[in-house]
This record gives sequence, C-alpha cells and structure tokens, in this order.
Amino acid sequence: MEKSEIFEIVRKEGIRFIRLQFSDINGTLKNVEIPVNDLERAIDRGIMFDGSSIEGFVRIDESDMYLKPDVSTFAILPWTLEGQKSARLICDVLKADGTPFEGDPRYRLKRVMEKAKDMGYVPHTGPEVEFFLIPRKNGKTVFEFLDVGGYFDLLPVDVAENLRSEVAVMLEEMRIDVEATHHEVAPSQHEVDFRYSNALISADAVQTVKLVIKTLAVNNNLHATFMPKPFFGVNGSGMHIHMSLFSRDLQKNVFYDEVKEDISNDMRYFIGGIIKHARAVTAITNPTVNSYKRLVPGYEAPVNIAWSLGNRSALIRVPMARGMGTRLEYRAPDPSCNPYLAFAVLIAAGLDGIENKIEPPKPVDKNIYKMDEKERDNYDIKTLPKNLEEALKEAERDPLIKEVLGEHIFNKFMELKWKEWEEFSIYVTDWERNKYENL
Ligand code: GLU
Ligand code: MG
Ligand code: MG
Repeated sequence: MEKSEIFEIVRKEGIRFIRLQFSDINGTLKNVEIPVNDLERAIDRGIMFDGSSIEGFVRIDESDMYLKPDVSTFAILPWTLEGQKSARLICDVLKADGTPFEGDPRYRLKRVMEKAKDMGYVPHTGPEVEFFLIPRKNGKTVFEFLDVGGYFDLLPVDVAENLRSEVAVMLEEMRIDVEATHHEVAPSQHEVDFRYSNALISADAVQTVKLVIKTLAVNNNLHATFMPKPFFGVNGSGMHIHMSLFSRDLQKNVFYDEVKEDISNDMRYFIGGIIKHARAVTAITNPTVNSYKRLVPGYEAPVNIAWSLGNRSALIRVPMARGMGTRLEYRAPDPSCNPYLAFAVLIAAGLDGIENKIEPPKPVDKNIYKMDEKERDNYDIKTLPKNLEEALKEAERDPLIKEVLGEHIFNKFMELKWKEWEEFSIYVTDWERNKYENL
C-alpha cells in the first residue's frame, strides 16, 4: 500500500487514531497510539519512543528509539476503541541514528530473508495456530473446559463457534486470507489456519491473528490462551509451520524438482539443515517451561527428530502436494514462540543445509513410538530437548542461534529464559503436595 492510499482511506473512513505496533523479545505485541494528524510525520521520519521499558530492548542511557511504520502493513482495526475507529501499522524499530535496532525481532527475520534472497530464494511460511478458549469468572481466568468438543466437531452453536467465525471475518477484513478454522482435538481447543505467504508477512499475520482472537475473547468475557499445554491429559496447542522456498520471481517453488516430479535436492538439504539444528532451534520455537509439557508421547506432538513423507508422528512431515504446493511441515513450534525469531532460526537452519549440502537421515515412514531402541538407532533418531534447560544449553552450543538472533537478542533471551527456568525449578507445585503430603 502506498502512502497516498493510506491517507485516502484514513480520510474516507474517518479514522482518528493510529496504533503503531511492534513486538518485544518474547513476541508480545506492543503499541503506541498516535492521533491521525501525526501520521505523515510517523511515516516520513518515525515516532520517537522510550525503549527502556520494553522487554529485551535497551538500557536506560540509550533509550531513545524510533518506530518506523511499514506502510504495507496498514489495516483498519475491525473494532472500535472508545467508540473511535482506528488503524494499525506494524513498525520497524530504529535507533536514534536512524539505523535498524539489532534487538528488533522483526529485523532479525528481515536479515534472514535478505540472506535467502542473496541465495536466490524467497522463504514462505504458513502457520497453523492452535489455542484454548476458557471461561472468565468474577474477573479471573478459570482453567476449565467450555465444551466437550473434539476434532472438527460441529457443536450446538455456542459462543466459541460464533467467536471462531467472527475471527475469520475480522481477519479477512484485515487482509489475512483465512483457509480454515475448526474445533481441535481437545475440549475448548480451536485452530485458525491462514494462507501461506512470504515469511515476514506471515510472522506479522501471526501477531495479528493472536490479537484478533484475544480481543474477541475479551469481548465475549472469555480468555484465549496460547500457552502450549494448559491442561494435563489432553492435547496441547502447537503452531505447526509449513515452509517452502520460492524463486526470486515467485514463479517457481524450488522445493519441487520438475524433472524428477518430486521433492528437490535443495528441499532435502533444507530438511538436513533443520534436523541438524533442531535441538538448538527448539529453545526459540518452544521457549517456555510449559512448552515441554506438550512435547511428550501420546498427544500428537513430536518428540523424535525425524522426517517423513506421510507419518504424522514425525517432527518434519512432507505433505502429499507437489508442484507449487511442495512444502514441509515443521511440527514442534508452539504459539508461545516469537514468530519472527522462530521463522528466522528455522529458515536459517534450512539455508545452512542448502549451503553445506547437509544430507538428512533416511525418512521414517513407520510409527516411531512403536520402534525399539535398535530400530531407532538404525534410523539415527534423536529426541527433542526434554525441558527448557536442555533446550537452552543446546542453543548456547550451536553458533547458528547467536548468529541469527544477534548478540543483543541472544544475550537478553538467555538471561530471561535462564531466570524463568531457575524460578520454575525452585517452585513447589500442587503435584508435589499431592504426591508427597503423606511422607
Ligand atoms: N495439537 C497437536 C500439537 O500439539 C497437533 C494436532 C494436529 O495435528 O493438528 O501439536
Ligand atoms: Mg491442529
Ligand atoms: Mg498440521
């Protein structure tokens, strides 16, 4: 969208306020509201803000930063704020001297996109966002199911079903092409899928999808949680990511080999790269203590590092589609991740595979959970980290993570996440009290 088009829409729609959005290191969406009169200045020069209170940003003595709107992200918010119509623009974060702030997660993804471009590729991603809708009672979120639904269930039309259709309508209004919304396997669990696109647009879309879902939930006196495993004993919420590489002119999917009529060598190497870095990448794609309660056998979430041409128990699945639809599905990530950083490390891992021609192990088309140890060794199957501690250690050991995140985010991320792990380690849980009360 061009600047002039934006002004035209703003005038026509009577928009009074503009929300300038960006994401912190945890992937939490932040925003500053400006009156529409300041929009031109914001687009031309950026708006100054104090970055010192944003998680993972800068120290107090160098806190002046700029938000520079990316005009292509302009969208009218499909709800009013205090009765006023508003629009949003997703922003890049710049330092006082006008150069990109190395701690901006969106910039980290942009850098990887640039690298891909230099290699002749445009990375595409298509995430599947799962979440739970749970009740609020007396102003508090209650961890209880709202329904007894299961996969693709048609329930008596209830509040959650209405909300899901409303989510789809609003996302369409914000130019996000929704492919499907459905009830997921667990009670009160839902999924929203939208069309794949350029990975930067797709990461922006994840942030918008979460905002829309959360806003509609609040408006219905519900809570939408994207925590990976809110309930013991039922499926958790994942954020599977479909990935492919297009040629620079977008005319070809380079994961498809027209001559072989099958997946290309580059796709195989890309998979090799992801498998090589999978354990380290997990710290970014599954960044919470709770993430690892999901990555256990029995709940459709991956545990073993393997790839497969059909099998859903594998970490990397290659769906049947060929031609432009040739892609892999990476099944580990969960929606607590920062989508910019998650896409950045995954794409970089895949590109490393292509650059260094990394052969993946043999694909596994058997149920891995039913194999004995010898058979698993035969396929060279390793497992994902079992907890945040293991994942953080892997991320510290693999230079790719620091390279993609940059020194600033890497150090901040490790500091925050080690603290989170220490906090959890000393916390006394209900499980322990139940288990040990009679000791
Ligand atoms: N909810 C499952 C997970 O934790 C995925 C179910 C599905 O295949 O969509 O990854
Ligand atoms: Mg699903
Ligand atoms: Mg899936």
